[in-house]
Amino acid sequence: MSARFDVIVAGAGPAGGASAAYLARAGHRVLVLEKDHFPRFHIGESLLPASTPILKELGVEMRDDVFLFKRGAQFVCERTGRLQAFSFQEAMPGPPRSAFQVERAGFDAAILDRARLYGADVRHGVRVESVEIDDDEVRVKTSEGLERARYFIDATGQDRFLARKQRTVKPYRHFGRAAVFTHFVDVTDEGWALVGEGNDIRIMMVDDGWAWVIPLAGQRLSIGRVLRGQGISKELLDDYLASSPLISKMIAGAKRLETRILGNYSFKNAAPSGKRYACVGDSSCFIDPVFSSGVTLALTSAKEATTLLTKALEDGREADPDLMKPIHEATALGYETFAALVHRFYNTKIVDNLIFGAPADGELRPSVVSVLGGDVFRPDNPFRDMLLNSRATPWRDEEKADVASEEAMLEKVQ
Ligand SMILES: Cc1cc2nc3c(=O)[nH]c(=O)nc-3n(C[C@H](O)[C@H](O)[C@H](O)COP(=O)(O)OP(=O)(O)OC[C@H]3O[C@@H](n4cnc5c(N)ncnc54)[C@H](O)[C@@H]3O)c2cc1C
Repeated sequence: MSARFDVIVAGAGPAGGASAAYLARAGHRVLVLEKDHFPRFHIGESLLPASTPILKELGVEMRDDVFLFKRGAQFVCERTGRLQAFSFQEAMPGPPRSAFQVERAGFDAAILDRARLYGADVRHGVRVESVEIDDDEVRVKTSEGLERARYFIDATGQDRFLARKQRTVKPYRHFGRAAVFTHFVDVTDEGWALVGEGNDIRIMMVDDGWAWVIPLAGQRLSIGRVLRGQGISKELLDDYLASSPLISKMIAGAKRLETRILGNYSFKNAAPSGKRYACVGDSSCFIDPVFSSGVTLALTSAKEATTLLTKALEDGREADPDLMKPIHEATALGYETFAALVHRFYNTKIVDNLIFGAPADGELRPSVVSVLGGDVFRPDNPFRDMLLNSRATPWRDEEKADVASEEAMLEKVQ
């Protein structure tokens, strides 16, 4: 029988890496099991300012070849010539006033390095296959054998290991359905000059969805297209790249890498925690990435959950099934804020009225920029309150949905 750990963390993305780093730093015996070998590609490259304090707190090394300064976000409609740029400098006072775009292979490895440095046992190429939880411990069967711990953290991202096993995936409909994306390397100096000084993410308005252009360190561009309807394909990206005057100029002469397709549908895990387990990051909830909220919320949920867990492990209270309830209620506010914003993005005139129609100054602008910056947990933001207080919440209609058939349909997209 293998040694018993305090906590086993499944998955070494930002949520798993940060969870392991916080717990190991607090002196707990942590085992991280990651099915992939690093470095590995992952999508999710544009961070929000609210992520920076967590990265700093963990001492993550922000190397120039991985982290690129990001000033803000630009919304662009080439068809009508409209453009709106939001700088994080315009946000309400509080968190940092800029963020980073990151190449995820190096970013995830940098967080995991901190976990290792604090003493976590990190194993790659090990897949979690099943989890048994009883009154005394958690037994985790992996591709390499059996491991035991006092607590289990599911940070398996969109694989959402426990939610699938427990059949607690509640799809959010009405958002983007799938994405097709690629990277361009060796972008020419002329192409890179179009990125602009702030290295802003560009969110492009495209028929039946949207597209992103994310500048990355080393004169590299991440470009992708999200489709709301059916029929995602490589050709859909090719056609868009050829039809966009701005992007055509940016990528002229650059080398295109592999094209990938991913189901990026949104969902909520209806049982994000229970006796001796918690789900953090995407395995607890995922919202359409149009506002780049995923990594920041993943880091936030990891920090909040492990802060509470550290105390509970010290007091021997980790078996309490309601332990994480306050954390999930608190982080749900962040996910709900973005869900309400994403809903409006796809289904209302918010893009015309609030994004392209936003006044250059005025009371609402700082509160909008704060939400765009991921500063969604403060109680004094009128725009956040407006989003949270809305009575229409159709993305929660999942209760009425046929969950099993939605899952089956979405599996096909992935
Ligand atoms: C098209 C698209 C674009 C996006 N763009 C952005 C963006 O610009 N900005 C942003 O912040 N977010 C973005 N996101 C969201 C972002 O990718 C996620 O929110 C983020 O990666 C979540 O981190 P995580 O640690 O929860 O999960 P992940 O980063 O997915 O990590 C999960 C890890 O668990 C491992 N794993 C899974 N199953 C097992 C198992 N059984 N055993 C062991 N290991 C396992 C996986 O290999 C993986 O390494 C985007 C998402 C999509 C789909």
